Amino acid sequence: MTVSQLPLPTSPVRTRFAPSPTGYLHVGGARTALFSWAFARHFGGTFVLRIEDTDLERSTPEAVQAILDGMDWLGLQHDEGPFYQMKRMDRYREVLTKMLADGTAYHCYCSTDEVEAMRERQRAAGEKPRYDGTWRPEPGKTLPAIPADRKPVIRFKNPIDGEVTWHDVVKGTITIANRELDDLVIARPDGTPTYNFCVAVDDSDMQITHVIRGDDHVNNTPRQINILNALGAPLPFYGHVPMILGTDGQKLSKRRDAVSVMDYLDKGFLPEALLNYLARLGWSHGDDEVFSMDQMISWFDLTHLSSSAAQFNPEKLAWLNNHYIKAADNQRLAELIRPAMVSAGAVFESAPDLSLVIALLKERTNTTVELAQAAMLFYRQPAPDAALLEQHITDAIRPALQEFTTSCATVEWSKSAISASMKEVLAKHGLKMPQLAMPLRLLLTGQLQTPSIDAVIELFGRDVVLQRLQKN
Ligand code: GLU
Repeated sequence: MTVSQLPLPTSPVRTRFAPSPTGYLHVGGARTALFSWAFARHFGGTFVLRIEDTDLERSTPEAVQAILDGMDWLGLQHDEGPFYQMKRMDRYREVLTKMLADGTAYHCYCSTDEVEAMRERQRAAGEKPRYDGTWRPEPGKTLPAIPADRKPVIRFKNPIDGEVTWHDVVKGTITIANRELDDLVIARPDGTPTYNFCVAVDDSDMQITHVIRGDDHVNNTPRQINILNALGAPLPFYGHVPMILGTDGQKLSKRRDAVSVMDYLDKGFLPEALLNYLARLGWSHGDDEVFSMDQMISWFDLTHLSSSAAQFNPEKLAWLNNHYIKAADNQRLAELIRPAMVSAGAVFESAPDLSLVIALLKERTNTTVELAQAAMLFYRQPAPDAALLEQHITDAIRPALQEFTTSCATVEWSKSAISASMKEVLAKHGLKMPQLAMPLRLLLTGQLQTPSIDAVIELFGRDVVLQRLQKN
């Protein structure tokens, strides 16, 4: 069975993101979601969200919510769903019944022990372990007697001859011989359907035209294609995206790397930065590194997807985040960082407007966490170290400091006038800029590193500056 390549879809595009809840939205999952979303948007199609929640131990309401939150934060809105596999059990049963009636599936009464023994024998004989077809109905074949009190599994009657070929949008043509594929169990003895079967039924029912997913699913694809064929369903196009590697070249690991999308929120990344970053992991549009989602949508047609694994580069992500922080509205950034500042004890009364502080600081910050920490400069009482005060406020400096303090009472309150006043004092006392700037930084902020001191003074405002400098 060959699936031909179709670069331009002729029917309305329908893509899906089908995560299995694990407790968080993995960045690799977010990337395939982004590709599926952007492709659907590119063709004015439909993006479906399907929650594959049949693993009851892992699929807690919290784990599902974590996926929805991650998608929401990234702004990857679905048009249909979320559909939950656990709510589709009647439909799966209906399809199983039909397949049994059609003869594309059959009951198998082998016990687990029997199947295991079968495999052992095959292994001992140097053969590839597989189901031997004991219960597979064939014309003229007599099946064994049904064992009493044994509930059967349902197996898919996989074609014996021929092969499955599909043109993978990412990996090129892939061919798997049918003899490599077992007669898959599609329902367990208790009647619950199994993974590949559910995916095939869902992709068919949801009329998915393009399946974009991680390449850990390549082995499932020929099985799903055979099931779809048995259902008489049209086949989607498949694109298997290589995994994302960590900085060490190994698979991203939960222990070493930030793999959850929401970790990036906590670490102070903006969603647009993470999206832009993920888009470039395994996909390119010329040399473009910085682009908006609208641009991505206009470009993303499933070409230029790389077939080799992409490596996570935290520096590049930080660089992009800095770019998006600089471009972000200051008021939006203020709302983002205010809660962390409140937790850190920030006092906003009689303090400069946070968006003005952000305007001063954001040029040099890579994350909103750094921005919040830097902004604290303006929202806490300075507690300069006594030894530093002694070191920087010497008798030689004190007269200049006092004179500058006096000038602050009357100087026009603008950065340029403050700067001019400082220079005047420095010239008069024969001092260099750091000799005055460092004491001012210590007295006003408690620390020696701040943005340009005239800008800091202007932002604090005359009252706070006078109050802090006069204390000395
Ligand atoms: N539920 C699968 C996963 O989370 C994805 C299945 C698919 O995309 O076909 O890995």
